[in-house]
Amino acid sequence: MAEEAEKEITTFADFQLNKQLLNAIEEAGYDKPTPIQLQAIPQIMAGHDIMGIAQTGTGKTAAYLLPILMKVKYAQGTNPRALILAPTRELAMQIEESISLLAKYTDIRHTAIYGGLGPKTQIEIINKGLDIIVATPKRLLELYMKGELILKELKTMVLDEADKMMDMGFMPQIRQILEVIPRKRQNLLFSATMPEKVVELSEEFLEFPTRIEVTPQATPVETVSQVLYQVPNLRTKIALLEHLIQDTENLKRVIIFTRSKKNAESVSKFIEHRNYGEVRAIHGNKGQNTRINSMEAFKGGDVRFLVATDLAARGIDVTMVSHVINFDVPFVYEDYVHRIGRTGRAENVGAAITFANEAEMYHVAKIEKLIRMQIPQLPLPAEVEVFKTPFDEQQEIAMEIDRQKRRDNPDFKGAFHEKKAIPRSRKAASKKDPKVSFWQKTKKKKR
Ligand code: AMP
Repeated sequence: MAEEAEKEITTFADFQLNKQLLNAIEEAGYDKPTPIQLQAIPQIMAGHDIMGIAQTGTGKTAAYLLPILMKVKYAQGTNPRALILAPTRELAMQIEESISLLAKYTDIRHTAIYGGLGPKTQIEIINKGLDIIVATPKRLLELYMKGELILKELKTMVLDEADKMMDMGFMPQIRQILEVIPRKRQNLLFSATMPEKVVELSEEFLEFPTRIEVTPQATPVETVSQVLYQVPNLRTKIALLEHLIQDTENLKRVIIFTRSKKNAESVSKFIEHRNYGEVRAIHGNKGQNTRINSMEAFKGGDVRFLVATDLAARGIDVTMVSHVINFDVPFVYEDYVHRIGRTGRAENVGAAITFANEAEMYHVAKIEKLIRMQIPQLPLPAEVEVFKTPFDEQQEIAMEIDRQKRRDNPDFKGAFHEKKAIPRSRKAASKKDPKVSFWQKTKKKKR
């Protein structure tokens, strides 16, 4: 095969995805592709079969969904052109949720079918026409045997969590499915681990696959001590941050991670306005030069605080960081390991301090599973004022908790409905919320 001159890919736009997908990605808050996405998306878009070794939390779902959405493009015909097999209904529902998120600006039709409930509604949806179907193996076969599902137009097939499929004894069903679908198709297999059974399956299923592996460094550096504070809301997080950074003796060079650009800005402005030391913020809205200059200044030691989103964090190579503060909990769990890896380098003892609200505690539980250890929790110091959670933030937290509960248990019926977002008027009101701008009120500084 001829070698193509390859431009380095760093952003979602570099993948040549269409506008509809790029808009949805932006709205989902994905600033930058994760490592598995960087590796897998170009290969899948080039039509290769893939064997991806990646755990949940690495962004693997979007890594295969985005190229599939590009390939399927728009609603066409009646029968599905892409099939995603998942071992459990919980995973099938999660994948379906991700498709809804990423395909929201397309007219692509999709659904998830799984057991545990009657097939009637699922059949009705199938009959209306579909482009992508997510399924557990048994329900797929059941509906296929009934003649409700036509699989002869499949062009792409994904086996997600293949190791779990093998553990659950789905090999016979998978073999049956492989017999009834078109031979000429693209195959993608994802698995967190590669036991012998999965290797065998991949040999049957994949043709000259490209192997892609992201190994989360699941064991945090030993020299890093980790602590966790449960903090009810944003304003109290700021109060806790303020309390901690008053310790100038120990917190000499600190990286503060936030999930959003907005929080990165709020935190860095707070530190600046209160004169706690030199601070720089790096995130997607800062130009490349500004980011480089900020990094250099931080490395040079003149700057005490660097506030960063995960996007900006990947390239950071700074030693002698005394503390990492996770102002927000990352939703890509591997990022936690990346974040805390910034401290405790060489023989420097470092500390990673994580702030989590009630909703974020669900993600902390998953991170603890990934790193195979519990992060010791400390009570909020008595000096830290605990603020009341504003209504909008309360709603956001409650909705996120619902979402997480539904993820863990698809039968959970929460107080909020999937589509029931915060009404627009309230969303707008939250812009003026004290949680975002209270630092501005406390300081009458002109800028
Ligand atoms: P997964 O490993 O597919 O289960 O994804 C884990 C989480 O990461 C999901 O909540 C995704 O919505 C989120 N995610 C996927 N890709 C990105 C990205 N590039 N940036 C930020 N979050 C992402």
